[in-house]
Amino acid sequence: MVELKIKKVWLDRRVAGTAPTRLLLEKLEGRPVEIVETAETVRRAIRLAPDPVGESKKHLFVTEQKSFIRPCPCSPGCVGCGYWTIDLDLNCPFDCSYCILQKYLDCQPLTVAVNLEQLRAELDEFFSRRPAGIMRVGTGELADSLALDELTGHSYFLVESCRRRDGFLLELKSKSGLPRALLQIKPAGNVILSWSLNPPQVIKGEEKGTACLEERLQAAAEAVRHGYRVGFHFDPILHYPGWRQDYERVVESIFRRIPVDAVVWISLGSLRFPPDLMPLARRRFPDSRIYEHEFIRSGEGKYRYPRPLRLRLYGELAGMFSEYGAGDRLYLCMESVEVWREFTEKIKRGRRNSAFPFPWQC
Ligand code: SF4
Repeated sequence: MVELKIKKVWLDRRVAGTAPTRLLLEKLEGRPVEIVETAETVRRAIRLAPDPVGESKKHLFVTEQKSFIRPCPCSPGCVGCGYWTIDLDLNCPFDCSYCILQKYLDCQPLTVAVNLEQLRAELDEFFSRRPAGIMRVGTGELADSLALDELTGHSYFLVESCRRRDGFLLELKSKSGLPRALLQIKPAGNVILSWSLNPPQVIKGEEKGTACLEERLQAAAEAVRHGYRVGFHFDPILHYPGWRQDYERVVESIFRRIPVDAVVWISLGSLRFPPDLMPLARRRFPDSRIYEHEFIRSGEGKYRYPRPLRLRLYGELAGMFSEYGAGDRLYLCMESVEVWREFTEKIKRGRRNSAFPFPWQC
């Protein structure tokens, strides 16, 4: 599992004496602990470091959240997939060169909320809405869902809170291994464990601290053997010489281990980033070559690969998945209507199918 490099624990005074905080501290024995009034004190300490983003991953802030559940904002002008996010942990101990959180979180330390009873109440209210279709909710938007799990045990809490909630799918999305806790409980039919995948050399060069491809696939296979259903995310797909063969090998290694029926969804998204991420990422990852590419500035202001290239990446990957009968599990993440339209037209002409319109919204 993840090797945590936490050098200091900061406690929000409001939760400093609570039982969940004491449990966390037991697991972090030996680390200096300081009680603070707000997260701003921690951010100030982090901001002074030579690499504030890297530094933010070494500080743990234990606090409570005011509210947890919100609709995923997607990206302006893109086709949304109706996802809802649970902001339970913020920030991530991994360090991916393309991670947008480097810019979004502004020196936010690894943040763990311990007021889970409030989250349970919010979830109960959320589940009482009884949607016409299926609603998806997950914790992987502002954090990796499982990276801190050995410390927090949040996956166990979430699975038990969401178990048997018909019409809702909980997704725990990760680049880590599989927490033992999830193998010690009965799987829940509406809990999807998912892994973001990339070719091994991309993981090695661009996804610092994460589990290697083999570990992620083994974790997924173990989850399936235990009875969970799984999902995969190819996001960001990177374009470089030899990308096609590399991604083909990844797709092939999925289905060597995992039966297609156990795979609920597969998302595709290509590299995109706000302009101010580039100078920061180049400074932090001088060996990375992913920003040395031609990009266009799209309507929402982000840099992306030109549209014909994005379509080629998605089309080729759709072809690879269709070979294994998984073409109908695909959807695009944060893509424009135009790209969606062309993507679905192309795959229709090739008599393949895609998950659009999203079956979980119908
Ligand atoms: S695993 Fe996800 S959240 Fe963590 S650094 Fe990588 S991209 Fe960011």
